[in-house]
Formats: sequence, C-alpha cells, structure tokens
Amino acid sequence: MSADTNLDIAALDKAHALHPWTHFESFSRDGALVIERGDGCSLWDSDGREYLDAVGGLWCTNIGLGRREMADAIAAQAEKLAFCNTFVDMTNGPAALLSAKLAELAPGDLNHVHFTTGGSTAIDSAYRMVAYYQSCAGRTDKTHVIARNSSYHGSTFATISIGKRAGDKMPEFDYKTDGIHHISAPDCYRAISDRSEAEFCDDLVAEFEAKIEEVGPDKVGGFFAEPIQASGGVVVPPEGYLKRMAEVCRKHDILFIADEVVTGFGRLGHWFASWDEFGVQPDIICCAKGLSSGYQPIGATIFSDQIWDAMQGDRWYASGFTYAGHPVACAAALKNIEIIERENLLHHAAQVGRYFEERLSVLEALPLAGDVRGRKLMMCVESVADKVTKALLPDHLDVGKRISDAAEARGLMVRPMGHLNVMSPPLVITQSQVDFVAETLEH
Ligand code: PLP
Repeated sequence: MSADTNLDIAALDKAHALHPWTHFESFSRDGALVIERGDGCSLWDSDGREYLDAVGGLWCTNIGLGRREMADAIAAQAEKLAFCNTFVDMTNGPAALLSAKLAELAPGDLNHVHFTTGGSTAIDSAYRMVAYYQSCAGRTDKTHVIARNSSYHGSTFATISIGKRAGDKMPEFDYKTDGIHHISAPDCYRAISDRSEAEFCDDLVAEFEAKIEEVGPDKVGGFFAEPIQASGGVVVPPEGYLKRMAEVCRKHDILFIADEVVTGFGRLGHWFASWDEFGVQPDIICCAKGLSSGYQPIGATIFSDQIWDAMQGDRWYASGFTYAGHPVACAAALKNIEIIERENLLHHAAQVGRYFEERLSVLEALPLAGDVRGRKLMMCVESVADKVTKALLPDHLDVGKRISDAAEARGLMVRPMGHLNVMSPPLVITQSQVDFVAETLEH
C-alpha cells in the first residue's frame, strides 16, 4: 500500500498497465515492485526498503537521483515556458543553448544537433539522415546500412531492425528489414575461440569489407555501432577494432554512426567514448539517457559539418518530433551537464569506474561466473555451467533473474538479462558502495 496515496499502486498497475518488454507469466505472478523515492544511488520502495541501484535506472541516472537543483531548473522552465515547438523557424532558449553546448562537447566537427525524444528516436533519425545525406551528396543508391549482431539500438520499427539480439523481435509482427544488414559482434568471450584477439579483429574487419562488397559499396550508406555493446552483454571490442571499422567506412563514403546512448555522458569517464576512449571520429553521435540523467526524456542526433553542408539547398528535411527541443527537457539537460562539469564527475567516474572493474574481478573465482567483463561503470557477469566449454546452464534464461532476486533481497539491484547480470551505476557511486556491490554478489 502506498503511504502517499493509500491506493494499492501495485494492484492498479497490474490491472491496467502494459509494461515495456513484459514477460506476461512472471508479471502476472509477481506484479511490479513499486519504487517511491530516489536519492543519489539509492531507491526506496513503497514499504520503505532501501536498495542500492547498480542498474542506474536503465544506464541513465548518471548524476544520481533526488537533486533539488534539477527539480528547481525543471520547475522554473515549466513555469516560464513549458512548451514551444522547434519546427521550421521557431526555437526556444534552452534548445538553442543545449545545441551549442553539445557542439562544444562533441568531438571534431560534430557541430549540429537534431533533438529527439530519447535514444530510439535519435537512432531512427540518424537512419533517415544517412539516406538523406547520401542523396544530397549525389549518392542516391546508398540507402543500405550495416549493423552488428548483439546490438540494441532501440525499439521503434526501424531501430529494432537495426539492432539484432535474440528474442527482440515479436514473432507475430512482420518487420521489414530490406536494406539492413548484420555482421558479427566483436564478442571476445564467445567468438574468439582459438584465435588471438588481433586475429579476431582482422577477421571482423575482413567480414565487414566482405559484407560491403556483397551488398555493393555504392549501396551501403551507414554503419551503426555502440562503442561498447550495452544490452547485448557489455561487449568490449578488441583493441583497434572501432578505428579500423571507421577507416573502412571512410574508404567507401559510409557514415559511421556511434550509438552513444549508453556510453555518452560519463559512463566511461568522458563526454563521448568514441573519440576519447577509442580514438574514433564518428560522423554522427546519437545520445540520450545520461544527457539528462533521466530527469527528462530527451535524445539528440549530433552530426558533422560535412552532413550539414550537404543538406543545404532548396529541399525539406521532412522528419521530426513534436517534443524535439522541448524547453523543459533541454533545461534539465543543460543543468545536468553543468552539474557533471562543476562536480568533476567525468574524472570521478573514470576513477571509481576503474575501482569497480577491479572489485568485480573477484567474482571471477565464483563457480558460475564464466566472464566478468566491461569497462569502468559498464560491467557484466556472464554465468555458465562450465567455465572451460562456456556451456550455458540448463535454466540459462532465468539464471540472471535468480541472481538479481537474491541481490534485491539483500538491498542491491543488478539487471538480469537471461544468463547475464548487467551493472551501470550512477557516476556518483562511491568506493564503499562499490564494495557493497562486490560483497553482495560475492556472498
Ligand atoms: N541505443 C542503445 C545503445 C540503448 O541501450 C538504448 C536503450 O537502452 C537505445 C538506443 C534506445 O533508447 P530509448 O530506450 O531511450 O529509446
């Protein structure tokens, strides 16, 4: 029963709400956990129980919850101007200021911003931008894109098709995937077998080149890549992989689209990981989540001078959302960025992230832990039946949930995904909270 309302929130929810990504049988059995309050890395449920949220919402509560300053900025903007569309030739202060700030933070000549409502719509917009840009540049057939297995780029019609994870597509629905092609994930744990990491990298790059030849270099217009595949299982690519993939893109006039929905805004200790962590200059960066730390829904497709220049002329850019450049969401993002800068949270995330990696590595000794991987504040434990053969457990679809249920009973939230448990805590996590995560999972 909720203390605030005296209503049975869980019962109302169960009766009326269809949750995203719901497994009906387990939902009808257990219902939802009702969270009432958040502060920093902590959440409290409706019975007053506290949890350390090592999931960070959904890879997103970067500055932590419960910040009065954020609430004030949101309230002030809602009172002053709660809405103003940014179609055609109208704008508002927060949208213009945020676009300039993102141009300052993004690497290289990524000086232009198309605002969206979240990560999926940022990727969806980038997908349209690929064909639009290529056509403007006179390459009208370059409408095909290449992405990778184990990727997740969102849940719209187009983005669920650009991504490719087992079970993501409803079998009842006919997804049109013409012009979207997939190549192997850079999954060192599962795919490297008897090759060295360098050989594996060579093979991945060769596969990409072969796929371009197969589809036709005059047809491939874009390549989508998360710098570290997040929901696909925190897949950290082999050394040099992203740089080499970007070089192949340049050779064939293929736009490199970095999906930084998770890796942006500090998760790896940088504003954006493509350049600062992996040395790659993308043509487009898509971001969301940490852009507002989840305080407001917002995303952005940030793109290069080259794309902007090619777009100019007597033509329409016929794409955009009512809430693009939403003044309240942009005000929240600006305040969020100000807090990250003022509190030096990128530096903190890099330091505490290294400690997180180190502390979680003790889990490698556990009998089920086949792989403990990730980087800084993006980590994952993969459970297996046999560490040598990497065979999965008979109940592998449930093992992550069993582990997360046991952790939750002890006040820790870690995200279950089949046989994986994923962690992406707020950047403000402390060393002692990291110790709590490691100790809870270890025992
Ligand atoms: N891209 C990546 C890498 C993601 O992890 C997600 C969501 O988790 C998305 C895109 C989609 O973002 P949203 O759920 O905000 O639409």
